[in-house]
Amino acid sequence: MSAPNKSYDPVEVTALQPAELDKARDAALAAIAAASDLDDLKAVRLAHAGDRSPLALANREIGALPPQAKAEAGKRVGAARGAVAQAMKKRQAELEEERDQRVLVEETVDVTLPWDRAPRGARHPLTTLQERMADVFVAMGFEVSEGPEVEAGWFNFDALNFKPDHPARSMQDTFFVESEESDVVMRTHTSPVQIRSLLSRELPVYVVAPGRTFRTDELDATHAPVFHQLEGLAVDEGLTMADLRGAIDAFVTGMFGGGLKTRFRPSYFPFTEPSAEVDMQCFVCHGASAEPGGEPCRTCSSEGWIELGGCGMVNPRVLVACGIDTTRYSGWAFGLGVERTLMFRHGVEDMHDMVEGDVRFTLPFGMEI
Ligand SMILES: [Zn+2]
Repeated sequence: MSAPNKSYDPVEVTALQPAELDKARDAALAAIAAASDLDDLKAVRLAHAGDRSPLALANREIGALPPQAKAEAGKRVGAARGAVAQAMKKRQAELEEERDQRVLVEETVDVTLPWDRAPRGARHPLTTLQERMADVFVAMGFEVSEGPEVEAGWFNFDALNFKPDHPARSMQDTFFVESEESDVVMRTHTSPVQIRSLLSRELPVYVVAPGRTFRTDELDATHAPVFHQLEGLAVDEGLTMADLRGAIDAFVTGMFGGGLKTRFRPSYFPFTEPSAEVDMQCFVCHGASAEPGGEPCRTCSSEGWIELGGCGMVNPRVLVACGIDTTRYSGWAFGLGVERTLMFRHGVEDMHDMVEGDVRFTLPFGMEI
């Protein structure tokens, strides 16, 4: 900045010469017009209107002029700076408008796109089937009863009339907790819930016990070390095999529809006497596939019958173990495999599908609650 000088001629100060001011103004206006976005314009503002810009420097020179020269120089500089400021403001508005338009296009939300990007899960078909099977018995007046999965050997075997040398007790079939001597097992069936129900409830007892059971089977197409059973138990005065048959028939009707026959085949279980295997008529071919000339049926392998489970009259030894007067009370029990039921009811051919947790398997069963 030059020092005040009375004989100073403003025209002599280069920065204040009209041609220089016009040059600085025109350069600023050209740069403003060329700014292609707001960042560009910010740089232009710094270069052409900032503290160190030619016009700002010229403005500062005015202070050094003698008073009589200040007005004219100030007018010239002011006009140039005003033109730049106005152009800057106008370009700023244009560029902001452009940016807003671009954002509107670039950040447009397509409301027609699918919104449900996190797919809904499905309950496992074993869970829903198990509940549905239990519901058929609940509708007949049964209560749902549950027991622990880690069970004392006495509940799992002894009370159910499994002799100490019964093969099911050996390491072949049973998961023992700690050692075989500990006699604490992962329950091999839901039948210990029969014992727990009889010991804890008032007679008569009508219960169903759905739940997980464990055996030392390798996982293959038809076996799994963890599987599900539905146990049923009725203990009352005067119960007979006919009541058992009636309950099984009602279950088959409830699950598979009416008009299907059932049949009992003699069998053996330690905890029932007499014991039977229950079959139901195939719900797909109604037995026709087994007739001469009948169409083959995959569901029953053209047998006409499907194995449902095991059942029988509760062995009096079991009732005695639970302190029940066998001269007054009798009972019946049955056990159904949930996996097996899922397989033949829904055509599932491989146990792996049920345990591998692939949603492509579970989703088609839907969200049955
Ligand atoms: Zn069939």
